[in-house]
Amino acid sequence: RPEPLYAYLDRTASSYPERTAFVYFGSHVKYKTLADHSDRVAKALREMGVSKGDIVALYMPNHPAFAVAFYAAAKIGATVTPMNPLYTPGEVARQARDSEARVLFTADVQYDKAIKANEEYRFEKVIVAEMTEYMPAWLKPIARRQIRAPRIKYGGAVVKYAELLSYEAEGYRAAVKPEEDVVALMYTGGTTGTPKGAEITHANISSNLQQLKPFYDVVRRSRGIGADAPLVLVGVLPWYHIYGQVTVLHYSIFDGDTVLVYPRFDLKKILSDIGKYKASVFHGVPTIFNAIVNSVDVRRYDLTSLAFCISGSSPLPVELARRFEAATGAPLREGYGMTETAVVTHLNPLLNGRHKAGSIGLPLPSTYAAIADLEKPELLPPGQTGELVISGPQVMKGYHNRPEENKEAFFNCCGLRWFRTGDIAYMDEEGYFYIVDRKKDMIKYKGYSVFSREIEEVLYQHPCVKEAAVIGVPDQEAGEAPKAFVVLKDECKEQIKPADIIKWASERLAPYKRPRYVEFRSELPKSAVGKILKRILKEEELSKWA
Ligand code: ATP
Ligand code: MG
Repeated sequence: RPEPLYAYLDRTASSYPERTAFVYFGSHVKYKTLADHSDRVAKALREMGVSKGDIVALYMPNHPAFAVAFYAAAKIGATVTPMNPLYTPGEVARQARDSEARVLFTADVQYDKAIKANEEYRFEKVIVAEMTEYMPAWLKPIARRQIRAPRIKYGGAVVKYAELLSYEAEGYRAAVKPEEDVVALMYTGGTTGTPKGAEITHANISSNLQQLKPFYDVVRRSRGIGADAPLVLVGVLPWYHIYGQVTVLHYSIFDGDTVLVYPRFDLKKILSDIGKYKASVFHGVPTIFNAIVNSVDVRRYDLTSLAFCISGSSPLPVELARRFEAATGAPLREGYGMTETAVVTHLNPLLNGRHKAGSIGLPLPSTYAAIADLEKPELLPPGQTGELVISGPQVMKGYHNRPEENKEAFFNCCGLRWFRTGDIAYMDEEGYFYIVDRKKDMIKYKGYSVFSREIEEVLYQHPCVKEAAVIGVPDQEAGEAPKAFVVLKDECKEQIKPADIIKWASERLAPYKRPRYVEFRSELPKSAVGKILKRILKEEELSKWA
């Protein structure tokens, strides 16, 4: 049965009070501290008048205070809306307006932007956590000099996070209906357009944690780690995004695990910590695995403790997975999920031989996945390509204040309520799913459907290609024609011409799928979670053609 999210923290903190929840710059934050601090902050929020159903915004990098604030809000039945720390003040204000946030938690490093946002949208309180909070005492003065956070004017609406910790814990828990009450208003990645708020209930997240457990338990079994010891998870993914928040932050609390917390992406530090803390589970995105393969000498690090690396959020090129496994010896498996399905719906099994390269794997337990007609509310027979649709306890209640989008996103069929993912996929005869492309990235060449992803896979096989993205550009004769944007590896920059790439692709793809144009770039536009933003490339192209 789904439970309120706070129940997991209560249980873990009472079973393992002394266990480390977070390692933060060498400091070990224990479960009893996380439980106690979130109780205190819950009390402080209640004193501020925040109650069930109110919106609490979190605009800060990964930090123990993020987790404290999240669980404090959950305990009083409030709804958290996390914001990308890279957001500008205008973007913060936009999400605050859309969600009708009442208070904002932020960090000293974000203070200037938070205060500007507060001029546009008046929060009742702006609570500022210092990045040095929870660091070891000896490190604080050094860290302060390095961080050089702006001077903070406390007083009025601006409150110091540390002050909230002086409130008396009262152990209050709001009565929560897990299937109805929204614990988080999560905004989508903004890859294809303006981010939309997805209403995520307590049950959505707690179901997904239960569904993921068998996968992490395989790690425990394979490494002989019993329930009496934590798994150590690498916390490189940002918690404001659903992927890292559910699979790392909430999962670790649910399972009593330890997270290595990083406010910033520092690859060398992360790789050396893996050996130091014997981390076994590493969630990442293709750009991170790409950086590990291409930008560092992995032989300098002890990565033998890594038992399960998981890639999600965008397609994992088969060639990249192969090279990562060869370089590190760690198994890398692809999974799939989205904000609206809080978060994972598919994952490849860890066991060798049970996974399939290029596939997102099998649906999680209690998850129905099918292929639907792109327009009609009908499921297609096995083997056909169409839109991936999902039904399961992790599927969101709906988009916040977006009746039109909700109408398009859901349909009923065969006794189930299906959610349209916007991704094109097919299922093989063994039930493994393959993402072909995003619906919005499909190219129409003379009436043929060309999937940008298929061309990208071929480009990634070229020994000189570091990154590739294919979009459709206007073509008088064909309607649209594929154009590839390519980032070359440093060692190849002088030797290769666009025509060589076109030739390579032409030898491997049917004529209608061949990229008609290739442009070299030194980098590709990316979102904060590392997704290549094809819509920016498209906008640039369209402005040239206009
Ligand atoms: P927006 O909906 O605002 O345009 P977004 O879809 O990128 O942004 P997220 O919810 O963060 O926002 O991402 C979900 C999407 O990520 C999926 O719909 C899918 O397109 C993509 N995705 C996730 N995992 C994979 C994967 N393994 N392979 C291919 N695509 C993936
Ligand atoms: Mg989306």
